[in-house]
Amino acid sequence: MMTLAPAMTDKNKPKSASAQHPSATSVASPRGGVSPGQAALAWTHTARFLTTASQLKEVPATALPEMAFVGRSNAGKSTAINRLAQQKRLAFASKTPGRTQHINLFELGPKDAPDALFADLPGYGYAAVARGAKLRWQQVMADYLQLRRSLSGIVLMIDSRLGATDLDRQLMSFIAQRVGSGEVKLLVLLTKADKLNRKEADAALAAMQALLGEYGTETSDIGVTLFSALKKTGVEDAALALHGWAHRSRK
Ligand code: GDP
Repeated sequence: MMTLAPAMTDKNKPKSASAQHPSATSVASPRGGVSPGQAALAWTHTARFLTTASQLKEVPATALPEMAFVGRSNAGKSTAINRLAQQKRLAFASKTPGRTQHINLFELGPKDAPDALFADLPGYGYAAVARGAKLRWQQVMADYLQLRRSLSGIVLMIDSRLGATDLDRQLMSFIAQRVGSGEVKLLVLLTKADKLNRKEADAALAAMQALLGEYGTETSDIGVTLFSALKKTGVEDAALALHGWAHRSRK
């Protein structure tokens, strides 16, 4: 994964680690213990369903660092969450009729001492949702992303073949202030990267880096990685980022 530094030029832009060495971080540590990537994946694997909420006021207040998963409907969000958790049906609840417009919370860490939450937010831009419901949900999402105190990070799923759409850009503008201050971190997963050839993947990554560069500041923590649930590209990098957010950013 690459992290964006402020005022990055094309020349000094670091390459995405996952683009160069898809399995570089999966190598076990030489001491025979678990690598940081394996530890991070063992942690994401602990994810379990906690609760579901149809309104912001129903989302329980908690002191645990929370990471929100957002993206256009069909961007590959449920698949990414399931892949990160190495569970086939974890994010399935978000797909059940009646639950698609809920915020679903998952708890992570030891059962007796949970240390983080994942929040699966409804996918936006789904054509079949009535306009009124869409607008209501856009507001719930905007409120959640702007007001949720415990929000530590946002994982934004964007289909690598489509790049950022107007709705994705709108979402980025909602969160720009909190991301810019560093209060909330941002990781963009360019999903379904297995559908791109190397040249297309490089171009998708470069375009996203350029866009994210507009949001980078001295204090921001913004990353982007190519991601494929199918080929497991970027999965370990994403787990490492989330693990780092949850365990290094305690305020
Ligand atoms: P969501 O609406 O954002 O939760 O999207 P889903 O996770 O349901 O995925 C939408 C579609 O994209 C499904 O048909 C998935 O099988 C497909 N998909 C998701 N991730 C990948 C991937 O890494 N590679 C490929 N080729 N297809 C994927």
